[in-house]
Amino acid sequence: MATILQPDKKITLAIGGMTLEVNQKIIPDGLRAAKDVASYVLKGQPMKPRASIGAAGKPLGITVHNTEDIKVAAGTNAAEQYTRATYNGNMRGVVVHYYVWKNEIWQNLRLDERGWHAADGKTRRAGRRPGQKIGGNLDTVAIEAIGPSKDTEDTTAQMCAWLCREFNLDPALDIWQHYDFSRKNCPAYIRPHWGRFIEAVQGHLTANVQADEQPVETIYTIQSDSDTLWSLAQRFLGNGSRWMEISTLNGNIDPKKLHIGMDLKIPASEGSE
Ligand SMILES: [Zn+2]
Repeated sequence: MATILQPDKKITLAIGGMTLEVNQKIIPDGLRAAKDVASYVLKGQPMKPRASIGAAGKPLGITVHNTEDIKVAAGTNAAEQYTRATYNGNMRGVVVHYYVWKNEIWQNLRLDERGWHAADGKTRRAGRRPGQKIGGNLDTVAIEAIGPSKDTEDTTAQMCAWLCREFNLDPALDIWQHYDFSRKNCPAYIRPHWGRFIEAVQGHLTANVQADEQPVETIYTIQSDSDTLWSLAQRFLGNGSRWMEISTLNGNIDPKKLHIGMDLKIPASEGSE
């Protein structure tokens, strides 16, 4: 019976108030094929491109794929098994950054390196940004979403949101279908409702911004008679005319009732972090 892989490392990614657990099992730079794996990975050759992705190691997009669900032994899952198949040279030269199955995520490539997944070789096509040229293999992070599963799709959308935030990508402009690069019907399960998928990614990103912007109040103790709501608004919120916000936060306190030693809640100043 095949031995189940152990991840090198487990990492946690946070997006939109949710967390994603990633099993990292990065194909070593020195790993060589034990047999002929593909026309471009013959016996003894490297098992991955070993080349820098996108612009000097920064991904310029994401390519989403779907692949078939598979039956696996107890105690493991399809994302682990696809990773194992990659290591064992049983994926015909396909190497992706992530396999996702339900909430199981396995990472096989670093995010600063290329994979082989888009069937577009080393070519680039016109992108959606002005003047942009983009290659699936050359420039994008590959996610293989396993099976026609709602859970898999949700996790994939969260991963896309995390990557968009991490690399400053726009879901509408920078997430691609495998189809865009090679006309393969992939991701076959997501393509029929692609617009909804992109909206889900945008939703996770928006939720993230809101989670990050939860105001954090501070407490200020009045020091002198010159501390007025106006002066505190000027000092902490950058504008004296915002004194009402301090008043509101303190139960519509009467400006005349301030006194030395009194604690006032001060709203978080936007954009202060
Ligand atoms: Zn594909």
